[in-house]
Amino acid sequence: MRVFKFGGASLKDSWGIQNMINLVKQQNLSNELLIVVSAMGKTTNALEELLKKYWQKADYQANIQAFKAYHYGVMKDGFPDEDDEVYALIDDCVIDLQNELVELKNESDFDKVYDQIVSFGEILSSRLVHYALNQAGVVCEWIDARWAIRTDHTWREGRVDWEITNQNIQSELSAILAHKIILTQGFIGGTEKGDTTTLGREGSDFSGAVFASALQAQSLTIWKDVPGVLNADPKRLSNAELFTQLSYREASEMTYYGASVIHPKTIAPLKRANIPLLVRSFLEPHKTGTCISEATSEQNLAAIIHKNQQVLIHLETIKFNYLREEEVAEVLVACAEVNLKVNLLHKSAFELTICTDNRPERIDRLIDRLSEDFYNKIEPDFELITLLNANSTLIGQITGGQSPALLEHRGNLYQLVLPLSKNKS
Ligand code: ASP
Ligand code: MG
Repeated sequence: MRVFKFGGASLKDSWGIQNMINLVKQQNLSNELLIVVSAMGKTTNALEELLKKYWQKADYQANIQAFKAYHYGVMKDGFPDEDDEVYALIDDCVIDLQNELVELKNESDFDKVYDQIVSFGEILSSRLVHYALNQAGVVCEWIDARWAIRTDHTWREGRVDWEITNQNIQSELSAILAHKIILTQGFIGGTEKGDTTTLGREGSDFSGAVFASALQAQSLTIWKDVPGVLNADPKRLSNAELFTQLSYREASEMTYYGASVIHPKTIAPLKRANIPLLVRSFLEPHKTGTCISEATSEQNLAAIIHKNQQVLIHLETIKFNYLREEEVAEVLVACAEVNLKVNLLHKSAFELTICTDNRPERIDRLIDRLSEDFYNKIEPDFELITLLNANSTLIGQITGGQSPALLEHRGNLYQLVLPLSKNKS
């Protein structure tokens, strides 16, 4: 059996829905298939906006109407009859959303509310895609991923309970798959108590990997609006090239350094179960895209990966001593405690420099914790550029003659921290 994941970009309009249906129809449907869908287009961002207003006790009704109108618009071409049942699905979902917002009005944990509300994007998207597929003659069953994927209650970052999840999926879904396609949601799971959790932004890829590994699928295909995994961001480098093949390790490394084509958590479960990940274009479905498996890339392509919005934190001990290992440990433990990711670390005689993502609230907490022992200086507006297999010409092109604020080099890996503004052109 196989797993397909369709992201928001592939389902953002009527054309996308029709294209998805065609793509599914072109498959050999005697081959079992489970489909994971994200929220349509930019719905998750829109729901975050709605939630912001709700939380600030501002009027959010216009956002609800926009949510409804957007989904009506997406279904319009496929279902021109205004009385079509598909619109009742949207109306019902909007009522559920309104009710949920009322029910949550005394809840004080923002992150918990976030998960209960933002998950409506995936719920509605899956209802609509399910309806559209069935209407097009592709018989499929809607499954609630909040039941299938069990997580703890780390809101917005739900951690999967693999044992229960595998058991749920294997015991119930295999039998259905023998005669029907399954359609379910990405990005969401559920706790033991039945609350909804989300798995981190862009987490639908990871959901695909959870289903694929539980079902021992022959592959997971992620349908994207890019041809596959490219060696650079095509918005920055017009002649970015496609990797036709990457090893799990190579792909994981790239996502770790900031390549956004696949969600970073996706690869580990696939590697453990030895399931290939295919990253393909829904715009050019006849092309094979990138296959991520045990086989390493033989193309010897350099990869260029940008991480924006980086901050440099410089720390120096108050006692003016050489930095000791205990102090380095103290800083790293504090980073772990406030959940701040160290993207690059440099230690000199007196100073420890950390390059991290711009998370102001977490950085404040870190500084607070360390203020008794360390002076600090914080510099925002950098970007971290990671180069794999680069030669000196490419490195020169990237720096454009500027000297990096921080530079690390080991083997075929170069990491440069450069000021964001100057390098943006
Ligand atoms: N809809 C969610 C998001 O936009 C999950 C996903 O797209 O993978 O983050
Ligand atoms: Mg998405």
